[in-house]
Amino acid sequence: MLTVFGSVAIDTIRTPSRVIKNALGGAATFAAISASFFTKPGLIAIVGHDFPRKYQNVLNEFVDVTGVVHANGKTFRYDGSYDSTLSLRTTNKTELNVLKDFRPAVPEKYRKSEFVYLANNDPAQNAHIIKEFDKVKFSMCDTIDFWISTKRSDVIKMMGEVDSVVINDEEAKMLTKTHNLIKAARKIMEWGTKYVIIKKGEHGSLLFYDDIVFPSPAFSLENIVDPTGAGDSFAGGMIGYLSSKNSTKLSTIKEAVVYGNVMGSFAVERYGIHGLIGLSKSNIQNRFKRYRKMVHF
Ligand code: AMP
Repeated sequence: MLTVFGSVAIDTIRTPSRVIKNALGGAATFAAISASFFTKPGLIAIVGHDFPRKYQNVLNEFVDVTGVVHANGKTFRYDGSYDSTLSLRTTNKTELNVLKDFRPAVPEKYRKSEFVYLANNDPAQNAHIIKEFDKVKFSMCDTIDFWISTKRSDVIKMMGEVDSVVINDEEAKMLTKTHNLIKAARKIMEWGTKYVIIKKGEHGSLLFYDDIVFPSPAFSLENIVDPTGAGDSFAGGMIGYLSSKNSTKLSTIKEAVVYGNVMGSFAVERYGIHGLIGLSKSNIQNRFKRYRKMVHF
């Protein structure tokens, strides 16, 4: 089984062509919905009294929501703007709200999860919850600039508690205080994790393991509307695929990275979660085949 823990959010996303207010977002939302095309994930998260019924219905449709806590107070809110190239994002506001003092617990039925994804979230909460699972075979975490600047030492500690770290290039540089991605990955591995996957947005990703580097391009797209959640969809697709294969072999991890690229490419084609929720398994398989053809030489 796969369990995803992290933020469920109400987002405001500002792109050069549109502003979307009060959209369903959150790192765990994107990751769990993306993973749901490979396995039925359990979700651990907290939402407030303002979390709309229609968003609860979306979560119900794709994931097991036993672990979603409904609290008094406001749902976590995120507000971000993209530049004209859609590749640079500025965080305008992060309101932690109910996430701030969340004491997450693992529901009994999730305790035996072999695969656990700690999506972008308070790193201290992430490091705490990973210890509550009984037999984790493969765990992975992500982070974002907000946590690197406010809780850097907790981020580093969290990375030592998991098997793999997935992180975007700018955040990897910021966290490790280096400009070279190979050096950044090595430094993260020194903190205790075995695999590092650095996401490079439209330029794909780099997987590092021991002395191995596996670069994979992004699926080339002509029309991108909203990159929000691409990284989370990448991670959800990757760990969802691993969970469906119940494998952590390096060859399966490489395939999983390609599924990650494929899921990320769907996420950016529509606003918010709409790039994912209309998908079918055959859309994903077809794009995976096209990807394979694209990189074959
Ligand atoms: P991504 O575009 O993959 O980096 O993820 C964007 C999602 O992460 C948005 O839907 C936000 O709600 C969520 N997010 C942004 N900042 C944070 C944060 N500090 N902690 C947890 N989740 C966040």
